[in-house]
Parts: sequence; structure tokens; C-alpha cells
Amino acid sequence: KTKIIGITGGIGSGKSTVSKYIEEAGFPVYFSDIRAKTIVNDDPQLQQQIKELLGEKSYDESGFYDRKYVGDLVFEDEELLLKLNSLIHPAVKVDFEKWVSEQTTAFVFKETAILFELKLNETCFKSVLVTADDNCRLKRVMDRDNKTYREVETIMLRQMPEKDKVKLADYVIYNNEGLEELKEETYKVLDEIKAL
Ligand code: ATP
Repeated sequence: KTKIIGITGGIGSGKSTVSKYIEEAGFPVYFSDIRAKTIVNDDPQLQQQIKELLGEKSYDESGFYDRKYVGDLVFEDEELLLKLNSLIHPAVKVDFEKWVSEQTTAFVFKETAILFELKLNETCFKSVLVTADDNCRLKRVMDRDNKTYREVETIMLRQMPEKDKVKLADYVIYNNEGLEELKEETYKVLDEIKAL
């Protein structure tokens, strides 16, 4: 049976970068966030449920999910956001299981920002946390997304504290240095996983 390894980390931790290195090393990676963005357009049942929750306007005239419209709706309404997520998360789970069944390698990786929050680590063989100091992550995201310090800080404060994630993870990659060091650390963890 295929073993699933979860990869997670807070905003700007470097989990996507680590996941790309793992792909380069020849292992399949499921990028949950990217797949979710596809599913809201491709899964007719989910589309129906979202329209029932948020209205017809959640899809534009061409039938595409209106990220801006939905984002504005749920931004100020925590309960609505939870309801939306309770529709999207099960659909991603189904999509992931289908994807896994199509893979042929001994290990596959699943990248998600909310591995521990959704207790998805319980369905994984092992978990890998990518983490870095707050100020390091703040700077990287401000550079990448053209966001202000306050905007990034607000997102960070809403996420599970790094110290809690460190306790839950099987492997921790500290990403406070350069990309060369990050790649090296990734390969070290990969070697350990391959030896399992
Ligand atoms: P998010 O959850 O916000 O999508 P992430 O955890 O996936 O973030 P990445 O996108 O991998 O993080 O990294 C955040 C940004 O920081 C990217 O622009 C990436 O290129 C850069 N970065 C990551 N690690 C390093 C590093 N060690 N040195 C320099 N830049 C880095």
C-alpha cells in the first residue's frame, strides 16, 4: 500500500519550495491548495453546494468560481467561512484519494497548510513540518506577495502556533537559511523516509 507523507508549515515557511524539491527527486506531490482551486470549478456537486450556500454569484458569467466575490463574502463572516470549508474539504479528500489510487511509488506526499488543524496527519504515515522564524517568514511573504507587515502578521496570528506544530511533526525542517541549505535538509529527510 502507498504510504502518505504529509508536508505542512505556516505561511511563508517554505513548504511549497520543499515540495518542489521532493517532486524533483521523483516523488509525486499532491498540492492541496492548488487542487482545491481546480475542484471548485470541476466538481459539479461541489459547485452546486457552493451556489446553495453563497448564491449564484459565487460563479461568474462564464461559470468560473469567483474567488474575489467569495473571498469578500467570507472575509467578515467566520461562520460562513467554516461552512464553505466544510464543503471544500471533503471534496478535496475525495479528489486526493482518487489521486493516490493512481500513484505507483512506495511513498507519496501531500502538501497542505492545515495538516494538523484538520488532523490529516492521522491519515498519514509520517508528517514533515517546514518552519522558520516569524520575522524570516514575514519578510519572505512581504517580498513574494507585495503584502504589508500587518497583513502577513494577521494571517500568521490566525494559524496554529509553530511550537504546537513542532510537537506534532515526525520530521522538522528549519528554513532560516538559504535555498541551498533548504534543499540539503529536504534531501536528508527524504533519505530518512526512503529508509523506513
Ligand atoms: P504559503 O503558505 O504562503 O504559500 P509556503 O510555506 O508554501 O508559503 P514558499 O512559497 O515555499 O512557502 O516560500 C515563501 C517564499 O519564500 C517564496 O517566495 C520562496 O521562494 C521564498 N523562500 C523560501 N525559503 C527560502 C530560503 N531559504 N531562502 C530564500 N527564500 C526562500
